[in-house]
Amino acid sequence: MQTLYAHKALIGENLELKKSVLIAFSEDGNIQSLDFDVENFSADIVLSKDTLVLPSFINMHTHIGDFLLKDRGFGLSLREVVGKNGIKHSFLTQISDERLQFSLKQSLSLLISNGYSTFIDFREGGIKGVSALRKILKSFSIRGIILGRPYGSEKIADLVGYVDGFGFSDVFSIFEKDELITNLNKICSSNPELLLSIHIAETKEIVEKSILKIGKSDFNYVMDKFTPSFIVHCNYITEDEEFRKIKEHKLGVVCCPLTASYFGLRFPPIAECLKYNIPLALGTDNIMIADVNPFFLLRFTLLSLSSKGVFLSPKALLKTLTVNPGLMLNKKIGQISPGYKADLIGINMSSLNIIHSRDIYKALVFRTSVKDVNFQMFEGRKIK
Ligand SMILES: [Zn+2]
Repeated sequence: MQTLYAHKALIGENLELKKSVLIAFSEDGNIQSLDFDVENFSADIVLSKDTLVLPSFINMHTHIGDFLLKDRGFGLSLREVVGKNGIKHSFLTQISDERLQFSLKQSLSLLISNGYSTFIDFREGGIKGVSALRKILKSFSIRGIILGRPYGSEKIADLVGYVDGFGFSDVFSIFEKDELITNLNKICSSNPELLLSIHIAETKEIVEKSILKIGKSDFNYVMDKFTPSFIVHCNYITEDEEFRKIKEHKLGVVCCPLTASYFGLRFPPIAECLKYNIPLALGTDNIMIADVNPFFLLRFTLLSLSSKGVFLSPKALLKTLTVNPGLMLNKKIGQISPGYKADLIGINMSSLNIIHSRDIYKALVFRTSVKDVNFQMFEGRKIK
């Protein structure tokens, strides 16, 4: 067993500020006990007085394979960039194995250096694409949860054993594929640990095309066919009835405000999800489009909403990158509580960015920079 002492830490499901915290964790990186207001102590790791400890970040939606295409899509439509015949997929079908490995490795390094312990990737390229990421993940201090999709003639069943679940690009990738849907439901019910997710209502065009072609919105079609573990985007989910349905089905929503804004789409329904008490998390989506910096994501989200007269609690927003994803995934990650993984970051609260801010939650969202991260631990191992 190892111990860590922090003068200040954000503890538990409510990210409550506690002082003089002693965290004990096991060899396999699980938090075993927490003590507060500790006076006389000895610990293996003692953090500086200025360091605030919080759970490492969890990025609930990424596509990390397009790292080499950074910034090629600005000014183009979503379809031109990430559509079937867009820049991204043309690139990914031609990329050599070596280049793909190289780009995936750089993506992982970038995520770790931004304070993430976990990311959930919608992996393209079927079994081959999933295996390429799985192979290199072992040598990086980050947890990758890989949601794959069949490629070419692959069947859903072929992916079992390779993936942590399934992530579909849109309703049209499952429409009129009864065999795929039947197999998906069968496999997911006999393997409850497998996650199932899909991009929903990302653009107005997709929702309108779905109504025209299928006779109902993509959201309603998907909900008729299966129950996802969580749904991604939902920019054009606007009706109370739809939010009530999300709530009834206990679905989590993952919003990606940076990509929505990049493409000039409707801002995601973050305030609405909070209003309906729907589990909400954030993701940065495609690396080619958005900066993965979690502080930038939080700040951008809060300020974008306040510019519309919607003022969210910085703490509630901080939970969308820490506590909420862990709860949504039903995994012991994303909070500093007994039984949870010791995935931690420390922030230097005396940095020039932060000093004199009296409210730590506001300081984390409005002021903190990645360079203020002065400590990082993954599964009980100090990595910074
Ligand atoms: Zn996506």
